[in-house]
Amino acid sequence: MDSYVSNQLIIKLPSDQDATGRTLGQEEIDRVISAIVSGTLTSTKGTWVKQLEKDFAQLLGVKYAYACSSGTAAIHTAIAAIDPEPGDEIVTTAITDMGALTPILYQGAIPRFADVDPKTWNVTAETIEPCLNERTKGIIVTHLFGNPCNMTEICKLAKAYNLPVIEDSAQSFLAQHHGQYVGTWGEIGCFSLQQGKHITTGEGGLVITNNEALARRLFLYINKALGYEDPNPDHYFLALNYRMSELQGAVACGQLSKLPDIVKLRQSAAAKLTQKLQGLAGIETPYTDPRNTHAYWKYCLRVDSNQIRGGAVGLAKQLKEEKGIFSSPRYIQKPAFQREIFQKQRTFGNSRFPFTLAKPDALNYSYEKFPGTFEGLDKVLVLPCNEAYTDEHIDYIASAIETLARK
Ligand SMILES: *Cc1c(COP(=O)(O)O)cnc(C)c1O
Repeated sequence: MDSYVSNQLIIKLPSDQDATGRTLGQEEIDRVISAIVSGTLTSTKGTWVKQLEKDFAQLLGVKYAYACSSGTAAIHTAIAAIDPEPGDEIVTTAITDMGALTPILYQGAIPRFADVDPKTWNVTAETIEPCLNERTKGIIVTHLFGNPCNMTEICKLAKAYNLPVIEDSAQSFLAQHHGQYVGTWGEIGCFSLQQGKHITTGEGGLVITNNEALARRLFLYINKALGYEDPNPDHYFLALNYRMSELQGAVACGQLSKLPDIVKLRQSAAAKLTQKLQGLAGIETPYTDPRNTHAYWKYCLRVDSNQIRGGAVGLAKQLKEEKGIFSSPRYIQKPAFQREIFQKQRTFGNSRFPFTLAKPDALNYSYEKFPGTFEGLDKVLVLPCNEAYTDEHIDYIASAIETLARK
């Protein structure tokens, strides 16, 4: 619906929070009805979650895929699969969803934050290596906003130190590095089906691996460690019920069939935006390595506050007030380690566990250690990107930014 604000035409953009920017339709309705009519809504007995796991493994070309209840559950399951000792360290990034960090603490391990490249907002082999020590148990990389990390270099480093890599691919469905999907470079790949991701079941997650032993642990962790398909099943270790229901599985099967087109449409919308915004003073369009394909969960600009008054925050305010375009300057506002959970170490009762086991320098979150993280957050303007964008939407976004940036 078009509307007028101070005599200017405002175009309402498709939103991933409702039907305007989601691909939910007859394919999902038919499947979910069939799940309901079958009367079997648990994945332990039904067929839809199994179908989803089979289809997802096939699409990504991996041996094993398991569905679970959220992206957070996927990350938790992956960490539980590599099974750190209490106080072991997992290297990760401070620019990510909190759901990628709290599972580390739940497993008794310590997040060791690596800095990021402020141009891509991603961790690199160079920022990870100084974080490695005798307590390191694994590395989580996040392909932020859909842009792949340099997995060639990161996997080489991880191999040299004999460390497993978990790829948080929640924002990067079907993104590729060197022609290979992200999520398949490391030992385990994690995905989210939350409302705002490329495809959705409202809440939901997926984990993938090619490693048989890890696959067994992933499956068990999602299922209270009950080997319910074994001849004499038992509860083998501490684990949760992170299952996806058949209702979500049915919706996910419909969504998955649309995923390749969704990613292509987003890439084409992003390419058009980049072409229009290229060379605009004070604005840098998304940078991706020529060996990567970016999945454009979001379309992120770097805004130079020396050239654009108020920087990313100022530009976002004007975009909202004058053009009705919603964007997020600073993405998660502040690095994760500045949140109360890390600052006050609020965990289990008053124990502060597992922070009590940490090496002091793992808890040193001082500014000098994270120049890329702080610069990255200062400059980033996260704009939405959607498969439903028409050329009119793209022209509208581009000319809004151009007009405001030139002011
Ligand atoms: C969304 C997201 C998560 C968490 O997924 P949920 O399904 O919301 O629990 C984890 N990591 C990243 C990078 C995300 O974008």
